[in-house]
Amino acid sequence: MTKALIRSLNRRGTQSDKTPPVARKQKFNDPSICQRCGAVYTEKTWRRGRRLTGEAAAKAKWVTCPGCAQAAAGEYYGQVLIDVDDTVDRNAILARIRNVERRAMITQPERRIVATNWGGKTLDILTTSQKLAHRIACEVEKAFGGVVHFSWSDDDGALLATVKIASSKMKLRKRAKSA
Ligand SMILES: [Zn+2]
Repeated sequence: MTKALIRSLNRRGTQSDKTPPVARKQKFNDPSICQRCGAVYTEKTWRRGRRLTGEAAAKAKWVTCPGCAQAAAGEYYGQVLIDVDDTVDRNAILARIRNVERRAMITQPERRIVATNWGGKTLDILTTSQKLAHRIACEVEKAFGGVVHFSWSDDDGALLATVKIASSKMKLRKRAKSA
């Protein structure tokens, strides 16, 4: 079986040392530029929107950053399940989530959303990192109300966050809007 196939069958990855993939050490040339997302690696960190001088840009290596590699492999270490009822604006939730991702990616390009899928009244979000899943769950709870629950896997430390958005909380939101 090829590595890629094994990975696609076991999407959460199979690390025995419980180190999240975002923390895995990989050596990159300083500077490097991600050919997929344009993030720049220098001084041991990946950043989006970083500018290189002409000289630095000339010697930069084109690589695939850890976030893009993980997203391409479908590897995820965070999952958020959001249960909604009919009163909830689904597009508003998605927009909120993308906004959280966008902000996280400025400083941490390796933290990103791998996939979002609606299954009935549940939105299933997979992220490359536990921290992004955690932040998404908290932001959704803050914006839409609801009950959040977190559980970490004993196997690899992956985070499952569930948010149940209760319609009663929507009233609070409406009141805040009109205030
Ligand atoms: Zn990238």
